[in-house]
Amino acid sequence: MFQKLKQSLRDMMIGRYGQDQLGTVIFLLGLGFMILSMIFGRFLWSSVFSFLSWAALIWCIIRMFSRNIAARSKENKAFLNFVSRLRDKEHRYYRCPQCRQIVRVPRGRGKINIRCPRCNRKFIKKT
Ligand SMILES: [Zn+2]
Repeated sequence: MFQKLKQSLRDMMIGRYGQDQLGTVIFLLGLGFMILSMIFGRFLWSSVFSFLSWAALIWCIIRMFSRNIAARSKENKAFLNFVSRLRDKEHRYYRCPQCRQIVRVPRGRGKINIRCPRCNRKFIKKT
């Protein structure tokens, strides 16, 4: 019985994306909002949080069952990039005003002249 259930679950997931780091974070956010909605049980906030928690959980499930694997892994990659930038205390990240390329510069150098490696545009930023 359980073997059969496991097998059919596996068949269902063939060709689908499954879980990743972004999915886990969305899922945890959903749980967090659910807890918040319980805490704020008697206030208007409760329905806001419960809506957010359902939205997060449904989003998480849609991503898991998505067949567009390339798009999902691109989302996850962008998310991981974002997290590593948040953790990076030694650099600052700026977007080139012309071509929108992200440029990484060392932190704590005061005002510096940044030259975009892609389009060579120069701009001044405080680091
Ligand atoms: Zn540029």
